[in-house]
Amino acid sequence: MRSPLPALALLLATAVAAPAAQAQPGMGAGGTRIEPGQECPAGMTEIRPRLCQAPTLPVPSILDYRPRSTLVTGEHLVPKAKYPAIDYHGHPTGQQLNTQEGLTGLADDLDRIGVRVIVAANNTRGEALRTQVAAARANPRMADRIRFLTGIDFTGVGSPGWADRAIAALEADVAAGAVGIGEIGKNLGLSSKKADGSRLRIDDPELDPVWQAAARLKLPVFIHTADPQEFWQPIDMHNERWLELALFPGRRYPAEQFPSFEQLMTERDNMIRRNPRTTFVIAHMGWHANDLPRLAKMMDEMPNILTEVGAVLYDIGRQPRAAHDFFVKYQDRILFGKDSFQPEEYPYYWRVFETRDDYFDYYRDYHASWKLYGIDLPDAVLKKVYYQNALRITPGIPSAGFPR
Ligand SMILES: [Zn+2]
Repeated sequence: MRSPLPALALLLATAVAAPAAQAQPGMGAGGTRIEPGQECPAGMTEIRPRLCQAPTLPVPSILDYRPRSTLVTGEHLVPKAKYPAIDYHGHPTGQQLNTQEGLTGLADDLDRIGVRVIVAANNTRGEALRTQVAAARANPRMADRIRFLTGIDFTGVGSPGWADRAIAALEADVAAGAVGIGEIGKNLGLSSKKADGSRLRIDDPELDPVWQAAARLKLPVFIHTADPQEFWQPIDMHNERWLELALFPGRRYPAEQFPSFEQLMTERDNMIRRNPRTTFVIAHMGWHANDLPRLAKMMDEMPNILTEVGAVLYDIGRQPRAAHDFFVKYQDRILFGKDSFQPEEYPYYWRVFETRDDYFDYYRDYHASWKLYGIDLPDAVLKKVYYQNALRITPGIPSAGFPR
């Protein structure tokens, strides 16, 4: 029941409105006037400037409203990438990595979508990493099509010798075949604790020796910081991620429990600036795909970063012109990555990158209530984003099988 509020608003509005709204043929009875800058009361919509009206039929929920688009326009599905791609943000499952059948099934999936190399960014270290590397090397179809990033164990930062132990572990994992570090997860900044129980800041100076070791070992650091900024905002009818936040309560970051979005971004940027010789790959376009001017400024100020497009296709595809220009301008510093391994979702990326299609569906309603458009990247840019940039910054990825 939300009737008292609109009724009150109606009373107030008719009291200030002069003259009262005229009912029009086909219009419901009356209407509610609002002042400039005001919003219509809940349950009403602005049918003309400053005139609100309630629908005369029961209003469906955002889950149930599924309009059929009548737009007739070209449709160019892209089941397979135009050039062999490197998925820099791969999360193959243990099932896919630990058995020969799993690896062969993974090869079948990758063939179907046009991914030549998948980078396993599961933060797997030590013995578990060695086991997975050995299994991959033993599989004739995957031996040169998967590479592994290693992780960093942040437990005990602040206790004597932490950095030395972390670097020794890193060196051992490189000897075992790791080609980079990551995915450093959002827990760094949001929830990881130091040995003394305080929050481990992303820019904690105790981490610097490890970032510097990464530079020395030529290991790119693939890092995910924070989450979409709406996760910090009130969960109301203005929140772009309302549905996701309603579906997944664990994605809310109440201020009394977590650092703010801006605090995390500041710490991330401090860490990057303090380690200019380390190559950082900023996952999910730094959660700034909705604010490309901000991401552009970051790219300009920090020559040691690249960025990666996993799980932010909804932001790329809703601004086809701005995104096209951004990708062209920063074509040497963007990597393809998908995040969650769902083979049927990759073709949406190819379609956004490779076509100029208009107004098509994204694959997850709860990420985006809007449609996508193709950004029509030139071939030279596609090649860089799909594989050339990843090969350039990651010497451990085999270049065999990629066009020149
Ligand atoms: Zn990830």
